Formats: sequence, structure tokens, C-alpha cells
Amino acid sequence: MLMPFLDLKAQFASIRQEVLDAVTRTLETQQFILGPEVTAFESEISALTGCTYSIACASGSDALILALLALEIGPGDEVITSPFTFFASAGSIARVGAKPVFVDIDPQTFNISPEAIKCVITPRTKAIMPVHLFGLSADMNPILDLASAQCIPVIEDAAQAIGAHYAGRPVGSLGLIGCFSFFPSKNLGAAGDAGIITTNDAALADRLRLLHVHGARDKYVYELLGMNSRLDAIQAAILRVKLRYLDKWATARQHNADRYRQLFRQFRLEAKLNLPAAPPQFTHVYNQFTIRSSDRDNLREHLLARGIPSEIYYPIPLHLQKAFAYLGHKQGDFPASEAASREVLSLPIYPELTEAQQLSVVAAIADFHPG
Ligand SMILES: *Cc1c(COP(=O)(O)O)cnc(C)c1O
Repeated sequence: MLMPFLDLKAQFASIRQEVLDAVTRTLETQQFILGPEVTAFESEISALTGCTYSIACASGSDALILALLALEIGPGDEVITSPFTFFASAGSIARVGAKPVFVDIDPQTFNISPEAIKCVITPRTKAIMPVHLFGLSADMNPILDLASAQCIPVIEDAAQAIGAHYAGRPVGSLGLIGCFSFFPSKNLGAAGDAGIITTNDAALADRLRLLHVHGARDKYVYELLGMNSRLDAIQAAILRVKLRYLDKWATARQHNADRYRQLFRQFRLEAKLNLPAAPPQFTHVYNQFTIRSSDRDNLREHLLARGIPSEIYYPIPLHLQKAFAYLGHKQGDFPASEAASREVLSLPIYPELTEAQQLSVVAAIADFHPG
């Protein structure tokens, strides 16, 4: 391989001593569950997102489940989301016993189509869950207008978009609740699983705080049926180190995206492939740089043979997954999502990627499209 798809080893090398010091500092305290590192990290995420409350938990998937539980969403309820996303968006809805109601995506942005949401709202709709896929915010204003007109809460699945903005506002602060993941491949990655929930609603924050420690307000006194989903102190300490670099890393990703756009122009590939949309008013943080090709599978093989890694996010839309077969969907139900699954290809975009590496990626793509 000429480069990895994501170079976490290079990232670690650049912050190695700081991370080791943070881990050592935490080990010295022998306090591993919640505690001051977690509280400090929560405050830092509140500052970043402009939310009053942040509640750290064990994963992005748990953040979504906790958000749904805090809103008392369960059997008989419906939650609207997109089928072109990671499993956990709809998986969390099903996990609490509610029904995922899918709405197709805007083919330009890969995000939920606001116009289509209106058609599927019923009296059972208890939340709308837009996903900010690949680091680009969903088009939130029309979604928020619709939701507030019908008094439906909005849960942002911001797992892939920490640091992204929509019309000048940070994602995670746009809806009633924001959910983030710190899975290692996200723009802010832990040394394992981790997540956080953000909100400006004091009552919801209070419920979330209880729900993530089994529902207990005081030790061994349970007010709610909660779960065990806490952030480890060691993860918080590592995330606090990495959070200091988040801005710099996002800027590097944006810089790399600009450079890809230049190179695609230079190699006259723009008519042959679709590059990711970057609408004005949106700050894309490029967790992925995802192009579209009508001959995606052959292009991917061609790149692989030349040592260029790429990934397919996501090869099967959720409505066609076996786990969701009980919803009764079929091929053709969400054509834009299905087309995206056939055509998308994510290219390396990590901050440490060099100009020479990017050139080799685009030159190899140009090779596939002679003339
Ligand atoms: C990563 C991700 C999640 C889940 O996060 P985990 O921390 O892996 O549980 C949820 N939704 C989306 C869109 C994601 O990309």
C-alpha cells in the first residue's frame, strides 16, 4: 500500500508523550469510572458545541439509545431517519422498541431530504433523527421548522461531524439533543469506544445523567430504568489531549479536500465522477471524502491493484439489511440511498495525508478514466 486508508499511527506519533502522560496521570489516581477527567471533558465538549450540558457515555450508539430513552420513546412510537447511514442510527431506534421510519436522502449531500420528511409524519412520530453524514451537517433549518411546527423533538446523529457547523452554529446544538461518537475512526477518536450527548434542556440533561448510571440519582436509589453507559476516565484523559488538536486536524482535512478538488480539476475528472457537495453556510469536517462513480467496484479494484486504499460507506442501505427485514421494505423503496450504496467510494482524507499521496490517488483514478 502506498498509504493507509486512515493513519492513526502517524497521529499517535505526533502526540505520543502527551497521551502517555494523560494515561499515567489517570492511572496514578486509580479512579477509573467517571470522576474529574470525565467532568472536565464534558465541560470542554459543552464549550465546543455551545451546549449547556454534556453527558459522556460508553459509545455513540449508546448516546443515541440514551437520547431516545430520555425522551421516553419506545414500543408503538416512530422515529424518522435516513437509510443511508451507519447501522446504529436506525439500530438505536429499534433497540428501544420503536419503529425506524426511513426517508430517502438528497443525492448531492447524502443527508436526509427535508422535503420528504413531511410525508411520513404520523401521530406516532416521536422524534426526527437527521444524520450529519461524512462530516457535513444535514440541512437543518427546514427540518427544525417542520419539527417545531409539529412539536417533534430532533435528535442529531452527529457521530461523524464533531466540529462541523451549519449556518454558523455547531452541530449537536441545533436540535434538542446531539449525539457524538469517539470511535477511533471518527474525527475525535478515543482509544476504544466512547460517546457523548449534548443538550441545552436542563430536565433532559438530568434524565440523561440518571439513565447512564442505571437510573440512580443517589447510590443504590433508582428513579429510572437506566443502563450502564459511562465514559472511562482513561478515555476522557486521552480525548482531552486530542480535543486540543481537533481544530487543526479538521483544517488539515479541509485542506486535503480542497487539494483533491484541485487535482480532480487538473486531471479533468470532474465530468466523470461526482465530488462531495460543500454547500455554502455549511462547514464540512470531512470525516470522509466520498466520491461517486458509475463503475465504482471496478474503480476500487483498479485502485487497490495500484496500492491505493478506499472504502465503501455504506454498501447496503439499512432498509435492505436482514436485521430490518421485519419492516417490510424492498429494493426500489429509497432509490437515492440505493444508488448511493452502488456508487460511493471514500478516499483517504486523514490530516497527515501528503500532497504526493493525494497526487498518486488522483493519478490512479485518472488512469482508470483514460482520455
Ligand atoms: C459511528 C457512528 C455511530 C455509532 O457510534 P459508536 O461509537 O461506534 O457506537 C452512530 N451513527 C453514525 C452515523 C456513526 O457513524
